[in-house]
Amino acid sequence: MDLKGKRVLVIGTGIGGAGVAALLAKEGAEVLVLERNSFPGGKSATFERDGFRYDTGVHWVARGEKGPLGEISRLVGGDLRFRVMEPAIRIMVGGRSSDLTQDIDNQAELERVFDELGVLPENREGAREFFRDVMRPRTPEEMEELDGYPLSDYLTRFTQDPQFMLLVSGFIGMYLVISPKQASTGEFIMNFAGQVRERNLSYPLGGMGAIPQDYLDALCRMGGEVRYSAPVARILVEGGRATGVETDSGEIIRADIVISNNGIKETVEMAGRHNFPDDYLEMVDRLRLSLGVASVKYALDAKVVDHHFIYYFPTPDLLDTQVGLMCPVPSAADPSLAPPGCQLVLAGAPTTPYLDDPEEADSLCEEVMDKIENTMRYLFPDIDKHIIWKLRANTRYTASISGRRSGEVIGVAQNRHQVGKKRPSNSTPLEGLYLVGADAGGRGVGTEMAADSALNLWRLLRGA
Ligand SMILES: Cc1cc2nc3c(=O)[nH]c(=O)nc-3n(C[C@H](O)[C@H](O)[C@H](O)COP(=O)(O)OP(=O)(O)OC[C@H]3O[C@@H](n4cnc5c(N)ncnc54)[C@H](O)[C@@H]3O)c2cc1C
Repeated sequence: MDLKGKRVLVIGTGIGGAGVAALLAKEGAEVLVLERNSFPGGKSATFERDGFRYDTGVHWVARGEKGPLGEISRLVGGDLRFRVMEPAIRIMVGGRSSDLTQDIDNQAELERVFDELGVLPENREGAREFFRDVMRPRTPEEMEELDGYPLSDYLTRFTQDPQFMLLVSGFIGMYLVISPKQASTGEFIMNFAGQVRERNLSYPLGGMGAIPQDYLDALCRMGGEVRYSAPVARILVEGGRATGVETDSGEIIRADIVISNNGIKETVEMAGRHNFPDDYLEMVDRLRLSLGVASVKYALDAKVVDHHFIYYFPTPDLLDTQVGLMCPVPSAADPSLAPPGCQLVLAGAPTTPYLDDPEEADSLCEEVMDKIENTMRYLFPDIDKHIIWKLRANTRYTASISGRRSGEVIGVAQNRHQVGKKRPSNSTPLEGLYLVGADAGGRGVGTEMAADSALNLWRLLRGA
């Protein structure tokens, strides 16, 4: 399609919305983005408090500038930069620990990690075979088959060594934020092999908010417009096609193309369920969402955490008071995110995202956040002495920053019924209405899936 002069309206400035807005402006479209919040980025935003710049989420990026986040920035003339750190990640599982370098497909490195984590000698060959199998090239047909294969069944083919299982479960938890029983083997393999191949596990300079900001800056340089505190109330549908939106303040804005970054379930409601065929509604209603994450953000007056990115899972005897958590230290990657001598530390753990019963979800999150704090005290006994401020963020908070009912961490879950060819597409049955973001049209880890969705929608619309 010739996009020159086409009026494009994008609902939301998450990574997907911001990314596709800039890409379409590059094609000559007249792009207007409406964002309900007073800030950009949705789940990938960064706020300032007392000289610290902290993320709304708890993030690290799988492929950095070599993945789709960097690709969009280059395509739109942006200046997004990532810092790759070595070792890539400190793994602390079952009472043992090891530093994983960016080189984990190197055989000697792998043997060191197995030694340090205590993978039993009799289980080593199975563990090695797992890494070989994950990294081997596959045809699209093989990948499609693996997309529909349960990850827990795939894993147990190799070994059930407890330490190996904890190591791999850590990656599943961090990438897909669902249980191995539900997770898709194809999606896991694609993410894991991609990260290992690219050797680029990293963090964006300026914080996670720098990613959507980079795309929106590019959009504005190309003549596009972003309006904040401008919630869309409904998508206008006339004669079976989307023709624009009505904002909360009652303003009608017409467009040739409407792109929603507001999640597939919410988009269907905003456009009116009666405008969609029954089979589409059934598919959307059946979609399961990923788990949520509750987090604690620490602004510290000293360097308390020695590593820049930790994955920790407690021994079984500690599970009553602790949780498995992911702990990134953004100020280690970008010192400008904290005042000199200080440290910004984030810690997050999975929990239920659903707000159907808000009280229950809140109280579960309270429990998880208490356990996060206990775990952090156990790992860093001095931490409480150094707190300038700390923030506890539950799944209701995630829902509020992304404008959704449910505070899921990623979006539509990457289970074996909802990935690859079975993932909702960028297109909808309504002419002129498209979806972008982690819910539809992409693959990858969280933010990268949202960016991949933006790239795929851009390709679809320009007909490439
Ligand atoms: C705690 C946490 C930890 C995470 N960790 C990682 C990680 O380590 N690595 C990783 O890659 N990913 C991670 N993710 C996932 C990743 O952040 C998301 O998958 C991704 O950012 C989703 O982007 P999106 O484009 O789908 O849109 P969203 O971020 O959901 O943004 C949607 C936007 O639309 C706006 N909007 C909604 N409704 C309206 C309306 N009616 N009118 C106008 N605007 C509207 C919202 O305000 C929001 O700005 C994490 C997420 C969270 C919450």
